[in-house]
Amino acid sequence: MLPALTGISPEKLAAWFKESGEPAFRADQILEWVWKKKVTSIDAMTNLPAALREKLKESFRLSALEHSTTQGSADTTRKFLFRLHDGRYVESVLIPANPALYGEKSDRRTLCVSSQVGCAYGCKFCASGLAGFTRNLDAAEIAGQVLAAEQLSGERVDSLVFMGMGEPLANLEHLLAAIALITGPKTLHLGARHLTISTSGLVPQIKQLAEHPQQIRLAISLHGATDEVRQQIMPVNKKWPVAELFESLNYWNSKKTQKLTLEYILINGINDSLEQAAILSRHARRLGAKVNLIPYNTVEGLEWKRPPNAHCRAFQEVLKQAGVTANLRLEKGHDIDAACGQLRLKQETSEGIIPAPAKR
Ligand code: SAH
Ligand code: SF4
Repeated sequence: MLPALTGISPEKLAAWFKESGEPAFRADQILEWVWKKKVTSIDAMTNLPAALREKLKESFRLSALEHSTTQGSADTTRKFLFRLHDGRYVESVLIPANPALYGEKSDRRTLCVSSQVGCAYGCKFCASGLAGFTRNLDAAEIAGQVLAAEQLSGERVDSLVFMGMGEPLANLEHLLAAIALITGPKTLHLGARHLTISTSGLVPQIKQLAEHPQQIRLAISLHGATDEVRQQIMPVNKKWPVAELFESLNYWNSKKTQKLTLEYILINGINDSLEQAAILSRHARRLGAKVNLIPYNTVEGLEWKRPPNAHCRAFQEVLKQAGVTANLRLEKGHDIDAACGQLRLKQETSEGIIPAPAKR
């Protein structure tokens, strides 16, 4: 399998040109075609000599992703499904605005990006974890989702959330290579402050990422304010319980200026008691974190449900009364299975790549 140009750093491309005896400015021309003009074929790089285009095609593919389908929804959220070279699928969701970051009236677009095929962490409510873990995505497959979403929509992506399929911190090496491409001036050039990594709470990697020089944002999938509640639904809590997780978040705060985000899915009768809300508000205050409340998005094959809206509001009210910034996200894209992992699950199940999820 030839490497994809969308995964090659400017430094590596420059080195390739040097080795091939081509003038160095050609590397910059190619970066311009790939990342700024966003061409969809090497043949479209019209200011390159034909012989060089042929040579390039012998050594590289342009992209690592083949667009499979797009689902649109009433609120203009779009979900793109991509086929990978090994026949597996990943998805990215383009969301018209990220109210948590920019306020309800913004026209900014956020892309929700996948980092792995499947996920090894097996949270009991999540479609991505349902069929287990297959493999990590490489830098071209991660950064390529942003480029492809811009090509397919004709719109500029303003911010990214690594909240698609997979646990990004379990794929830190490729994630950081992709982030270098996404933020680099010669490549996509998005500000690091517009990137949010979401994690289920991998303590060593949180500490490692805290040392990273860029001001990338971090969101923690908490979903339970105590070990008792959290470990019922998130097996990762056995390895890194709440106290250890918070210790790593204190460390994060000592290194970073951006506020942390605590994500909290509301699942009816599981983690939505007002007592959990009170404990959650104490955690959030201690960490200076804001809280995103996400009413649970139903997953085919799982029995979990979202609480009634009035209860979600009561949960939010406890946090607000305690002085915590708490967004209640009336989820966009609910009608197209926006909780990541679901479209891919349907596609791979229908092709017989993975068995249909058993009822739990
Ligand atoms: N593995 C990382 C990132 C991917 S999941 C993490 O867990 O943080 C992104 C977010 O979607 C997480 O907060 C996850 O808990 C949430 N999520 C998963 N399934 C969901 C569902 N059915 N409804 C609502 N949110 C869901
Ligand atoms: Fe994996 Fe995140 Fe889903 Fe948990 S919530 S199974 S960590 S993708």
